[in-house]
Amino acid sequence: MPHSHHSHSGQFCRHAKDNLEDVILEAIRQGFEVFGLSEHAPRYRIEDLFPEEADLTPSDLLATYHSFLTTASSLRTKYSSKIQLLISLETDYITPLDSLNLSSLLSPPDQDGVTIDYIVGSVHHVRGISIDFDRSTWLRSVHQCQSPEREDGRTMDPGPPPRLEVGDQTIPALAEGYSPTDTELIPFLEKYFDSQYDLISKHQPEVLGHVDLCLLWTPEVGKKLRDLPSVWEKVERNVKAVIAYGGLFEANAAAFRKGWETSYPSRDILDLIISLNGRICLSDDSHGVSYVGLNYLKLRDYLINAGVETIWYLLPTSERKEGDEQVGNRGRVIARESKGWDEHPFWKKLEVAQTATLKS
Ligand SMILES: [Zn+2]
Ligand SMILES: [Zn+2]
Repeated sequence: MPHSHHSHSGQFCRHAKDNLEDVILEAIRQGFEVFGLSEHAPRYRIEDLFPEEADLTPSDLLATYHSFLTTASSLRTKYSSKIQLLISLETDYITPLDSLNLSSLLSPPDQDGVTIDYIVGSVHHVRGISIDFDRSTWLRSVHQCQSPEREDGRTMDPGPPPRLEVGDQTIPALAEGYSPTDTELIPFLEKYFDSQYDLISKHQPEVLGHVDLCLLWTPEVGKKLRDLPSVWEKVERNVKAVIAYGGLFEANAAAFRKGWETSYPSRDILDLIISLNGRICLSDDSHGVSYVGLNYLKLRDYLINAGVETIWYLLPTSERKEGDEQVGNRGRVIARESKGWDEHPFWKKLEVAQTATLKS
């Protein structure tokens, strides 16, 4: 205790900040004991890049990920007496290419001789379009799901030069500020949870990433998900599938900085996981030094309020001892239970540090 299973740095990701080593030093300073370095997976098509990557090619992203692996591995050795670092990859799930290439990135030994310890299984696209880049792009994704017969969309217009696809602005459902109805949202939500299920079934992610990212722009819908039976059925199916192989569900604090009152997953899904004895772990999903441990006190309070008595964390299988549990079929990490997790001195220290910041 304490832990984060999900982080990024500006050294290997254009929408994050700071060097990886500085992020690690901050995690050590705050007293993290286990910290997962889960850089984003490379993407494989020009149309899947983001505007800040318009000068790059998919092969640059692949080279960047490999360079992340070697850097992370040497930093893990350098700081091994201070913190348990784990090397990970946060998936994308846009087209079958992502799944195919994920399998090759995971097959040991990779070309750098560095093995990925575990994956954070995340879906950030629906029907080929990013759902968390900005609200207008998300609206295009929701709209795309209204027309199952049409080809999938894309995040970027490949150009040249590559630029953000904006869609047909004469369509009212794509206009800025448009709020989709529940009926319009249902096919989008169904498709999101179907992609997530596919990812779960094919790759058994050790950590399921921001379970309900599909609700990013509509957190109020999270409060009535059970009233959308065709969607809720898929949520239940996915949660049971992860529990069946011993996977962890991350309580991801990034939702707070996106304006939510809860972490991911929102309360109904969290309650479902708890009722089925699913395993919860902690993640800050940090994208730079100032995001390390951000909103962890809110995260703690949310989980205590929901009745989470035990949280789980990952360790290398070489650390295995009695009581540890297997997670999925790769066998590179085990899950360890942390009872009384909220009484760890880390939290007190964080409270004091935040009070001092408020006063200064
Ligand atoms: Zn990111
Ligand atoms: Zn993510």
